[in-house]
Amino acid sequence: MNVLKFGGTSVANATNIKLTVSIFTQEKYQNSIVVVSALSGVTDLLIQAAVDASISNGKYIETLNHIEQKHIDCVVELIAANNTEALKTVQENFIELKNICEGIYRLGELTARTKDKVVSFGELLSSKIISSYLSSINFKHQWVDSREFIITDSSFGNANVDFEKTNLKIHSTFSIQHSTLFLAPGFISSNESGVTTTLGRGGSDYTAAIFAGAINAENLEIWTDVSGMMTADPRWVVNVKNIPHTSYKEAMELSHFGAKVIYPPTIQPAMQKNIPIWIKNTFEPNAYGTRISANTESNTTSDEMITGISSINHISLLSLEGSGMVGIPGFSKRLFEALALEKVNVILITQSSSEHSICVGVNTVDVEKAKKAVDTAFDYEIATGKVEPLVVEKDLSIVAVVGDKMKNHQGISGKMFSALGRNGINIRGIAQGSSERNISAVVAYSDVKKAVNVLHEAFFESSKKQLNIFIAGVGNVGNKLVSQLQQQSEYLLNQLNIQIKVTGLANSKQILINEDGIDLTNWQEKLAATPQATIDDFTDEIVKRNLRNSVFVDVSASAVVAAVYGKMLERSIAVVACNKITASSAYDNYVHIKNLSKEFNAPFLFETNVGAGLPIIDTLNNLIKSGDKIHKMQAVLSGTLNFVFNNYDATKPFAEVVKQAQDEGYTEPDPRLDLGGTDVMRKIMILAREAGEKIEMEDIANNSFLPQECFDGSVDDFYKSMLKNEEHF
Ligand code: ADP
Ligand code: ASP
Ligand code: MG
Repeated sequence: MNVLKFGGTSVANATNIKLTVSIFTQEKYQNSIVVVSALSGVTDLLIQAAVDASISNGKYIETLNHIEQKHIDCVVELIAANNTEALKTVQENFIELKNICEGIYRLGELTARTKDKVVSFGELLSSKIISSYLSSINFKHQWVDSREFIITDSSFGNANVDFEKTNLKIHSTFSIQHSTLFLAPGFISSNESGVTTTLGRGGSDYTAAIFAGAINAENLEIWTDVSGMMTADPRWVVNVKNIPHTSYKEAMELSHFGAKVIYPPTIQPAMQKNIPIWIKNTFEPNAYGTRISANTESNTTSDEMITGISSINHISLLSLEGSGMVGIPGFSKRLFEALALEKVNVILITQSSSEHSICVGVNTVDVEKAKKAVDTAFDYEIATGKVEPLVVEKDLSIVAVVGDKMKNHQGISGKMFSALGRNGINIRGIAQGSSERNISAVVAYSDVKKAVNVLHEAFFESSKKQLNIFIAGVGNVGNKLVSQLQQQSEYLLNQLNIQIKVTGLANSKQILINEDGIDLTNWQEKLAATPQATIDDFTDEIVKRNLRNSVFVDVSASAVVAAVYGKMLERSIAVVACNKITASSAYDNYVHIKNLSKEFNAPFLFETNVGAGLPIIDTLNNLIKSGDKIHKMQAVLSGTLNFVFNNYDATKPFAEVVKQAQDEGYTEPDPRLDLGGTDVMRKIMILAREAGEKIEMEDIANNSFLPQECFDGSVDDFYKSMLKNEEHF
């Protein structure tokens, strides 16, 4: 026999149910047990209705009507509308459900037991609707109530299975050869007195595994909406890869650390009987999916060091600290005892070797009772100053890298932590499973998506690095940069393994952001259609998005833009500037920005400040790195001056040559910056500083050839005064 389980999306509506049915009605499954979840989203809605009712929020009626309509629509579409039998079943169930919720509303109380009763309707309804549909197409099957077979204790919401009783019941009914297919609701069970219990959120997978284990099934197939277990959650990481084979232990580790594709307890019953678990995609039934089995060598086809990355949110860290703890045994025992008595599940443990502190990660929902329990257990030590009251830190997540092969590879943690560090992700705690099958790190919730992506890139996409580029200033040069990036993107990807993504563009009035990458063929119109915004809005967005390998590119000549470099570097965002203002600002500021770049491991690059595209600053840096000392530099540093000196021979006015230089794009918007020498001074200073000199603008002598009166007034006035001074030129 096989046991198949179809999840919420597989039975979300009539169309999907038909797809699901077309899979399990195949010849090869004729002797199977099929377990189904509630229609996608229904369990959440049922909980919401019950909770609303318990806090006297009349909205629960609306929610129940919405759920009812969802089911009615499904029946009407699946089975002709005149099939009153199926509709009647749905309606009767909703009458009962509404009565229960009214009771909750009137009492203003929702016990875990009642909550289980309410959510059980989700799986009962979905399975009964599918059963009606099977009858309507004359498919021979038998609907069975899982509650009669799966017996648990009375831990409502997350009940523990009594395997002895359960296996016996299942075995006696299903192990005889049947020529019929059984259809069963997932998730629900009952205690010894027959009261409905549930197996925990996501528990339909577990229902299927319990059936499979009891009848010693050939295969356990979990049908869902992804083509198997992936190297990370596909909702977060774009370039995920399928894991074709994995071991029970690896799969258990991945799911315990948040890979929602399989509910963690599911693996145990299958592992005990050595039943292979398949994860298959209802919407792509021919895709291979994932096979989970005992074979620890199963993943040898892949040469990756790790198998996958997963994450858990809503984590809090509890730290017990105090000088009185050193060397005294029993502290940890008392801590864990206090937590266990309150049924607080400990997800991660770290203890510093100085024995000064023990730190545990728990679900945030458990924090209040954990704090109370621990502070009570240590009240004497706290009162006598030996131990501090328990320190709680919320809004955290855990990211874990998982793999059986980890123990044979060195350097995994090094790679993990340096990848996180390079991206400015602060690590609050670290733990390594003694099985050496996982390394986990506690990070801020706001960093977790980035962390998963950074690690995925480091371990699975090492051949390709994605850059998120944010460009401020899209005038002449910025425009050209964008088209150059567009033109070279294929070359950069193929030859340098760099995937360029222009994620943000800004001019002085507007900003355009697209996390999937801006379409570089029509960005002008898109940018023009955005509302007014400032450079601070732009940098706030960059910080908020918190994307990996972010690069801020300043292609403006603006002091306002130069002022944000510090804010970027402090978040490990690289800065690339052709804007000369920062590198030629007061020496202290130049050093400050360079130090931030070192401290936060984010490059600050400004090669084009001098010599346009020529590698001058880089060459200078390399000379110094290799031990040379710079004695002297000779340079012609101004394109404008070059042009003017090459073209002026007194046959036409000086002003005319300058105008030509401006028209051809050589000059700054105000040509006096070039002709008056300021631009050359900036470049000299940048070169001198990069050569190791501490110099300021005042240290540079500028023998300007422009008469003083040329500096007065506007650019127009400048052209007039040049004509007046033709004799001088
Ligand atoms: P079902 O309702 O079928 O039980 P779930 O939503 O519980 O489906 O689980 C499937 C989802 O698990 C996928 O859609 C995917 O978003 C998520 N998921 C998280 N981590 C992984 C992973 N490592 N591999 C595949 N899917 C994952
Ligand atoms: N319907 C239940 C839930 O949403 C069980 C499941 O789908 O596996 O948690
Ligand atoms: Mg699930």
